[in-house]
Amino acid sequence: MTPEVAGGQSLVYQLALFVASMCFLVGLRLLTNAETARRGQQLAVIGMFVAVVGTLLNNHIVSYQWIIVGLVVGTAVGIPMGLKIPMTKMPERIALSHSFGGLAVALVGVSEYHVSQQLHGPLGTFALAAVGFEVVVGSITFTGSLVAFAKLQGLMTGKPIVFPFQNILNLVLLIGTVSALGLVLVQPERQEVFFGLVAAGVVLGVIGVIRIGGADMPVVICLLNSYAGLAASASGFALDNNVLIICGALDGGSGLILAMIMSRAMNRSFSNVMFGAFGSDAPAAAAGPGGGTVHEGTVEDAAELLKLAQSVIVVPGYGMAVAQAQHAVRDLANVLQAEGAVVRYAIHPVAGRMPGHMNVLLAEADVPYDQLFELDAINDDFQRTDVVLVVGANDVVNPAAKTTPDSPIYGMPVLNADQAKAVIVLKRSMNPGFSGIENELFILPKTMMVFGDAKPVLGRIVGALRGSH
Ligand code: NDP
Repeated sequence: MTPEVAGGQSLVYQLALFVASMCFLVGLRLLTNAETARRGQQLAVIGMFVAVVGTLLNNHIVSYQWIIVGLVVGTAVGIPMGLKIPMTKMPERIALSHSFGGLAVALVGVSEYHVSQQLHGPLGTFALAAVGFEVVVGSITFTGSLVAFAKLQGLMTGKPIVFPFQNILNLVLLIGTVSALGLVLVQPERQEVFFGLVAAGVVLGVIGVIRIGGADMPVVICLLNSYAGLAASASGFALDNNVLIICGALDGGSGLILAMIMSRAMNRSFSNVMFGAFGSDAPAAAAGPGGGTVHEGTVEDAAELLKLAQSVIVVPGYGMAVAQAQHAVRDLANVLQAEGAVVRYAIHPVAGRMPGHMNVLLAEADVPYDQLFELDAINDDFQRTDVVLVVGANDVVNPAAKTTPDSPIYGMPVLNADQAKAVIVLKRSMNPGFSGIENELFILPKTMMVFGDAKPVLGRIVGALRGSH
């Protein structure tokens, strides 16, 4: 018999939840630094393992049958997802995971309500409020994240879907949801009102996200992450489970902070994201923006230019991830550094398709952390730099954000690649990036476009540099 503490739970159970909470707290702290992030991640995984094992020791579990079924199904789906989905598809995977999280939380809430109605009598007002909040926010997260996934995956249009009286409908639904929540608190036996809450959450999630353009999805995903955390926290209050409260609060808080950082990086306010239409009607780029002349160079031309450079800034973007060119980038940097050049990397906060995307890839290729610089730390140095090497980046170096007030990305902070003495851009064509707009950097007289898949092109540049000695 294990000793029991307050609440009738075993000491081992309480201890496990405490240890798990500490692992999450310390893990999150470690994640704030690139050098310690891997350890932070490992600690969080240990915390989750301890939390799961601890929860299985809960005295209130009467049968393990369905838990085992859940474990088997979750493992069968989760492991292949983790192993097979490429880094470039991470935002889609994260959107799907949030959607599962939202669904799980909403279902837990429904089951809490159902069990209390059938077996123990109505829940207390506080628990009922927590369960009500949990099912609404869980349902919003479920359908909102599914829509975000569909937009990112191209299963539905990435353009904002707007229809007449949408704001009014949103407002009516919101007021209706809050009123229904109030009604459930005074008349808990009104099951139709409770299930109306679930339905309202489902509809709110869909109509809230369909109106947001694909280019704003990073911010939306962070917000949905935050919602999933808040819903889990509410679930913790309803289930009297401290680890859920702490974990949910951490998730909710960090998701919100991340959404704010991302909004700032894209120069977008929350209200702008929720009600704007960024990236909606952007025209596809033609051969050269505004009919300008494109200066195409060969691999040898690029190698020649790089050979003369004393200072080089590499700007990686989504194309580096698609090409899996991070190792080739590092090889090129090694060659240039061996020749005495100073090579640094400029990391834009929304480069790639998820926060930290470039940092993760470059860390995988063993690029030293002290060579990575965030936008604010390096942006003034471009004007003193001999060559900027843009590897599959586009929107994050688009000068239109600084110079063209009617551009959809106007005001978004961008890397000052256009200020360097010379620019080399590696991409496959003149096609636009994520926001679908033309890029005048590509037709500047000092810009050399080298077309092709970034990985083999970089390999050939390295070959040309080595061959020239
Ligand atoms: P962009 O999407 O602007 O541009 C990527 C470029 O990479 C394209 O122009 C493409 O040109 C090129 N490319 C693709 N494949 C290859 C390849 N194999 N080899 C060489 N080049 C290739 O990327 P950025 O990183 O500059 O900007 C990120 C954009 O994504 C921003 O608009 C941001 O808002 C958005 N976003 C960011 C998220 C995040 O969390 N970081 C999440 C979702 C969206 P071509 O086809 O001609 O090769």
